[in-house]
Amino acid sequence: MVDTTPTLFTRIINREIPAEILYEDDQCIVINDIAPQAPVHMLVIPRQPIPRLADASQADRSVLGHLMWVAGEVARQAGVDEAFRLVVNNGAGAGQTVFHLHLHVLADPSDKTIFSESTM
Ligand code: AMP
Repeated sequence: MVDTTPTLFTRIINREIPAEILYEDDQCIVINDIAPQAPVHMLVIPRQPIPRLADASQADRSVLGHLMWVAGEVARQAGVDEAFRLVVNNGAGAGQTVFHLHLHVLADPSDKTIFSESTM
């Protein structure tokens, strides 16, 4: 059976739960993460509640590309476009806790070297 319960992020998009909204358009919203893992930690969230990246269909390719573009835009707006990292956790085993696809945009504007030693 399909779970139709609105996700946490859908409830934020619908203004049922407060969040610091940094950007929004017809396809997505960008908020500050409530528990930041870096001085800049934004979440780029599609309005469409795709649970995991692996659940995206061919029809979702356009919105997936849009999310990437928006990530670059908000990084520029935050002044971190010279050094930021994008993370997508797919599945509980990879640390995903909110099953509504989102891109983490992570940066430390005061330390442009923090990502120089890649953990990938
Ligand atoms: P993930 O673990 O990849 O599913 O990421 C979920 C992220 O959502 C975590 O970094 C949480 O800190 C963040 N988060 C959870 N609840 C909220 C909220 N109410 N507002 C903003 N971010 C949230």
